[in-house]
Amino acid sequence: MTTWCSVSARSFDSSAMPTVTMIGGGQLARMTHQAAIALGQRLRVLAERPDDPAAQVTPEVVLGSHDDLAALRKAAVGSHALTFDHEHVPTEHLEALIAEGVNVQPPPSALIFAQDKLRMRRKLAELGVPIPAYTEVNSVADAVAFADEHGWPFVLKAVRGGYDGRGVWMPADAAEAAPIIEDQLAHGVSLMAEAKVDLKRELSAMVARSPFGQAAAWPVVETVQRNGQCAVVIAPAQDLSAAKATEAESLALRLAAELGVTGAMAVELFETHSGDLLVNELAMRPHNSGHWGMDGACTGQFEQHLRAVLDYPLGSTRPLAPVTVMANILGAPEAPEMSMDERLHHLSARIPEAKVHLYGKGERPDRKIGHINILGDDPAETREKAERAAHWMSHAIWTDGWDHHND
Ligand code: ADP
Repeated sequence: MTTWCSVSARSFDSSAMPTVTMIGGGQLARMTHQAAIALGQRLRVLAERPDDPAAQVTPEVVLGSHDDLAALRKAAVGSHALTFDHEHVPTEHLEALIAEGVNVQPPPSALIFAQDKLRMRRKLAELGVPIPAYTEVNSVADAVAFADEHGWPFVLKAVRGGYDGRGVWMPADAAEAAPIIEDQLAHGVSLMAEAKVDLKRELSAMVARSPFGQAAAWPVVETVQRNGQCAVVIAPAQDLSAAKATEAESLALRLAAELGVTGAMAVELFETHSGDLLVNELAMRPHNSGHWGMDGACTGQFEQHLRAVLDYPLGSTRPLAPVTVMANILGAPEAPEMSMDERLHHLSARIPEAKVHLYGKGERPDRKIGHINILGDDPAETREKAERAAHWMSHAIWTDGWDHHND
């Protein structure tokens, strides 16, 4: 007869594991929740609506606005760290939470440089980081003088609150610039002007850093933009010299340390035709340019963000394939009649290696409703497949003309 050693079973006490609060209930919080599940942690979200992408899947939802201090306080109670899926929480609210003992990561002293593009430009200039020429715009005359000096069209930006190209204009002449500037200033929007960079392509250098100061970089990726928003990411960026890749990674690590960033940070970069790298902007949270790593890196950005804000040792950022391509599923001009479920069914049959991430969002033109990751050996082939898969998911049309009825 076998005698079993008696070991008193200890049940898993989830309350002994950390709870992280994420402000914002979008897809970034939804995917952070997935990573929290794997780590045995709990993610509480402050969401605006019960049908926000993260609120649909997270049991601990506080409904409220990110600019309401009472809602922020409620979401923070008992959590081990408070972090963000967007950068719009007023810093004075974060200072108030810190004074009450909340562990805010990244701290507002760093976050301000992701919230305010003018503060960010001034800080980067002070640190000697290459950036486009810029100036503050308080009148049409300010902008015209700047563009006359640096060239038309120039780039006009809302200093705060822009995302996915909203809050960015490229007026060709003074007649086009004047009404935009007058209208924005009349609505209390602070503006700035930047020289339009003649760019070859856009890159992103992503890193994560913990409060202890440990930091890790993922390989630099290329981000392909369409209509002012990211459509495709190629990881790693192709045809980037090892020296340039190291320069970009080192710059991102240096910025994370100098600004006191914790959690994930994306440094969006412009590569010019002469091969120079200029910083476009900083995002201090998981970022679209890091979605590839969910399937394509040893540690993806959502897990790494949790590890970083909780001050755990960071995970390996090693890629798992020679190339990973992420393609966003962007809402079609008109949502197809075929249901999303049926589209997924056909995709699964045709491209079984496609890793699909859907955000639980309704379909609207150009809205980010999900993404596809494909790992491969050949960059062009992998990109074609990922873009074909994403286009199928948003339009129910195969770009190569394939028809499952005739196959
Ligand atoms: P958002 O905060 O909406 O992401 P960005 O400042 O990143 O706004 O600008 C959105 C896009 O506009 C960039 O990805 C880039 O394609 C283009 N852009 C922004 N600034 C410049 C610039 N100075 N020169 C050329 N293109 C620019």
